[in-house]
Amino acid sequence: MLVVGGSLVGLATALFLRLHGVDCLAVERHTGTAIHPRAGHFQLRTVEILRWAGLEDEVRRRSEEKYLLNGGINNVESLAGREIASYFPNLNAGVEEFSPTLRLFIDQDVLEPLLRERSRELGAQLRNRVECAALEQDDTGVTATLRDLDGGGATTVRADYVVAADGNRSPTRERLGIAMRGHGVLSNSVTIYFRSEVDLAPLLEGRDQGVNYVTNPVLRGFFRLDRTGDRGFLVVNLVGDTARPEIVAAYPSAPWANAAQTIDEQRALELVRAAIGVPEIPVVIEDIAKWQAVADSAERYREGRVFLAGDAAHTMPPNGGFGGNTGVQDAHNLAWKLAFVLSGVAGPGLLDTYDDERRAIGELTVEQAYTRYVTRVAPYLGTEGMQELVDDFSIEIGCRCNSAAVVPEPGDDGSLHEHPRESKGRPGSRAPHVFVPNDGERVSTLDLFGKGFVLLAGADGAAWQAAALGAADRLGVPLDAYVIDDAASGFADAYGISQAGAALVRPDGIVAWRAVDSGESEPEVTMRETLASLVSKEDREETI
Ligand SMILES: Cc1cc2nc3c(=O)[nH]c(=O)nc-3n(C[C@H](O)[C@H](O)[C@H](O)COP(=O)(O)OP(=O)(O)OC[C@H]3O[C@@H](n4cnc5c(N)ncnc54)[C@H](O)[C@@H]3O)c2cc1C
Repeated sequence: MLVVGGSLVGLATALFLRLHGVDCLAVERHTGTAIHPRAGHFQLRTVEILRWAGLEDEVRRRSEEKYLLNGGINNVESLAGREIASYFPNLNAGVEEFSPTLRLFIDQDVLEPLLRERSRELGAQLRNRVECAALEQDDTGVTATLRDLDGGGATTVRADYVVAADGNRSPTRERLGIAMRGHGVLSNSVTIYFRSEVDLAPLLEGRDQGVNYVTNPVLRGFFRLDRTGDRGFLVVNLVGDTARPEIVAAYPSAPWANAAQTIDEQRALELVRAAIGVPEIPVVIEDIAKWQAVADSAERYREGRVFLAGDAAHTMPPNGGFGGNTGVQDAHNLAWKLAFVLSGVAGPGLLDTYDDERRAIGELTVEQAYTRYVTRVAPYLGTEGMQELVDDFSIEIGCRCNSAAVVPEPGDDGSLHEHPRESKGRPGSRAPHVFVPNDGERVSTLDLFGKGFVLLAGADGAAWQAAALGAADRLGVPLDAYVIDDAASGFADAYGISQAGAALVRPDGIVAWRAVDSGESEPEVTMRETLASLVSKEDREETI
């Protein structure tokens, strides 16, 4: 396997492929990992995936070194000014009902080296200063031309499949002629990295210190302050008073959406001071990064043997903190499918489900980031063509997969998201977290998933367990099966089944199939047909 791009999503892809035992080479044209913090807000689902990858404790430790664990997200006139709105008073309020993990603030430049080291430890090959210059596909694989950017010339490598995690300007996507669709460029934004000679935290007077949106006549954007209160960055999306209707004219000539045009150190200082709300406050500008806020989705996530993941597939404004998270979750969805197909466990049809599942979720997420951009930063864009806001739990752990790798129940409306309190193990949704007994200790159900399929049956569901093990053996599909004989855990209720029912969970923790009770047909037949269809294989009983 070849991965193009060795930033957040490329490294996550390499790591997940190795966790599934797939050989992979990731190439990255930069010298190292991210130099700027960028992504900082990591969702429950992502932290759950990092937990599976053995990184949760270290990520949490690094997060706490820099940020307050339960900081919130609000909107203020300035750090010293009035609070306009509070989006999350506490980032982790209510999460224990749904997950054994926490939402975390950790910067991309801190997280990426952890992903890199863990994937190297597991045997991934990572090569920096190497650019993928061309890809040619045929029926059996892809030939990639790799250029050594330090003068070492070009080489070719052959891969079964390629994952293009090469960012929002994805050269791979361009070469494949895959167009982006959506709202386009929303603003030419800047991120200003600064240091303050005084502690800024007291200005907030105990209000949220996680992400602070700023809305005033000078700018609109957001702060992320370190827990020390004397360092951080300010994102500036818009400049000028966009609340005044007379200056709001037709986009794209909107001058207020071009903060990057006139930025220099002096201007950055003015903006930071206006956002802090204290004139002449002693602040030092350390760096300025220019970037575009864009809300677009790729029209397809796959071309033959090449898959798009991360910003290459969907580019969204940072509002809501969805971009990097969605990319890591793309990689997690794709890695097991590639592993199963490469090892012959699944038929190639399984790979079609990546586009079916992730593109719909990617489009939803782009629209939800756009909604948050408009409502929190750029109301002048208006609500026409804007989705209603979907709550964060439904986006981060409530997205549903609709594809041939899920067996829908009768009456399933194919909804793309559902609050985890409602979905209760409905096929296509993330398998719920419940603490259950296992080997003498209590573990989260989430800790049982990751490699193969997992069947979880209620106390009276032993027939499902036996049938699933038999079917897996026959089809050569890795599968573990547990009977959860523990009414106190609330397992059956959480999964929406009776004690005689069962749920079948995919390696990526998505419920693939569920029997609410013992079922009408023979469990052996049901399990064989179900498993065969989930891995895009025919059950060949009659022909053997
Ligand atoms: C200010 C800001 C705040 C953000 N906050 C959040 C947040 O809180 N939460 C969140 O989830 N997301 C956030 N994001 C978004 C997040 O940073 C991106 O979604 C994430 O970086 C995407 O990762 P990626 O690996 O897909 O792409 P990139 O990070 O763009 O990486 C692509 C890599 O591919 C390499 N590459 C490109 N072409 C080639 C080639 N031909 N050969 C070899 N290498 C190549 C590039 O050098 C690059 O390193 C934020 C973004 C910004 C700007």
